[in-house]
Amino acid sequence: MTVEEIKAAYSMRDIVARYGFQPNRRGFISCPFHQGDRQASLKIYDRDFHCHACGANGDIFDFVERMENVSFKEVFQTLGGAYEKPTFSSKLAIYQSQKRRDMLRKERERLDRKKELNNMLIGIYRAYMDRSEPFSDIWCDCCNALQYQLYIHTELNETEARW
Ligand SMILES: [Zn+2]
Repeated sequence: MTVEEIKAAYSMRDIVARYGFQPNRRGFISCPFHQGDRQASLKIYDRDFHCHACGANGDIFDFVERMENVSFKEVFQTLGGAYEKPTFSSKLAIYQSQKRRDMLRKERERLDRKKELNNMLIGIYRAYMDRSEPFSDIWCDCCNALQYQLYIHTELNETEARW
């Protein structure tokens, strides 16, 4: 039920009756919100209440909130209120898609950094190879390392193409 539906379903009288109050002929009850109200100062209207002594006033939700010392949300749910599901799930969907976008962005940034590092290593190995004797130990090590970096580089490009 929505707030309006609950208000239509319960009169102020129904609510005060739950707490054992019986309005007198003029529609007043002893005010539970201030001490020693022997005059019965709290007027019960159809949808509202108003205390002529302490000024307490409101609708059925306010009355239960004050009696039970709970939040509006708790009263709403206790009286059979339900929050509109589409609102909730659409908020959840927005939250989830934001979370997913953040995740993708972070993953992309991570790949970019990795690619940058690989490019740097490729440059270093090429420079070493240029300066060393072909087929010397250092030349072979650089050649292997370069091939490995080029392999990783291709992998990274393929991973990125999948996003
Ligand atoms: Zn009062």
